[in-house]
Amino acid sequence: MALTVRADLANLPDYIPGRKIPGAVVLSSNEVSTPAPAAVLAAIADAAADVNRYPQMANDDLLVRTSEYVGVPQDRLAIGCGSVSLCQQLIQAMCAEGHQVVFAWRSFEAYPIVTQIVGAEAVRVPLTEDYRHDLDGMLAAITDDTRVVFVANPNNPTGTGLRTAELERFLDAVPDHVLVVLDEAYREFVTDPDLPDGLELAAGRENLAVVRTFSKAYGLAGLRVGYAVAPPEVTAAVRKVAIPFAVNRLAQAAAVAAMDAAEELLSRCAPVTRERERVRGELVDMGYEVPESQANFVWLPLGERTAAFNDHLLAQKVVIRAFLGEGARVTIGLPEENDAFLAAARTFDR
Ligand SMILES: *Cc1c(COP(=O)(O)O)cnc(C)c1O
Repeated sequence: MALTVRADLANLPDYIPGRKIPGAVVLSSNEVSTPAPAAVLAAIADAAADVNRYPQMANDDLLVRTSEYVGVPQDRLAIGCGSVSLCQQLIQAMCAEGHQVVFAWRSFEAYPIVTQIVGAEAVRVPLTEDYRHDLDGMLAAITDDTRVVFVANPNNPTGTGLRTAELERFLDAVPDHVLVVLDEAYREFVTDPDLPDGLELAAGRENLAVVRTFSKAYGLAGLRVGYAVAPPEVTAAVRKVAIPFAVNRLAQAAAVAAMDAAEELLSRCAPVTRERERVRGELVDMGYEVPESQANFVWLPLGERTAAFNDHLLAQKVVIRAFLGEGARVTIGLPEENDAFLAAARTFDR
């Protein structure tokens, strides 16, 4: 008898990583362009000396340090291989076949993938005309079968942010059987004081999980580590579905060192957000439409012109992330990287 791979996996969209071209300016994956601080690299080197040993199964030291860092008890925390893994574990913990997962579209491309992997149904609610979550539309999309709603704040790839009042109103209106997963991968780049801190929202709520990552502002994209803050019964289930020893020894050590070096790492965010405003301003002056961003990237809703824009930039060795037929997402890098992008954008025939 022949092997039978699950037929439904054929419909699963591939996660498309940013392209890497030798010598190019890479602005496609929302990474920070600055290497990790020396203390973090030293912690990784120290941990490397023991790679013949398994890491701590329960991430003990990292859990203690994260708990202290974010001011959340350990039973409300779960550590994972990046927030993508935590999103997948949250779905595995909450959903089975026949359940529904609601999210905005376009939003983070991992959401439909982690949903379909467990056989749940993805319910996409289109963004509003100004590229923001349609929270009323998302509420209307919730049914008795809905188990999880993803909200990325700020949203990837549009960079748009939801304000505290509108998000609180939404959370109050979501029925009790639904877990809202608030994805704050870019929280450290938020400059609008009206945007919420998810951990403050989570404090009084039993239907909210907040996921955060060390991949972006903390500069550890290559090591895959993040955390979730959620009610204890949810974190317990998230731990149950984890792959044993998934978070490796280097990642655990690096994340602890990154929190110890938080002052230095977070001080790198202001130059990025200043550059974000400069880049957006120049693009708007050139005649591009660019929604206001609260993340470390900008969104150019170019529609059918996206492919031509992407080709033009690639010819100038600037790699961005194109969503064909929709738009281009451009990470904010160092000033000279952004200048290379702006020069290429200026010569695009629009
Ligand atoms: C980059 C990103 C993440 C981070 O994923 P990791 O797995 O932690 O690297 C999570 N959510 C969104 C919306 C992102 O853009």
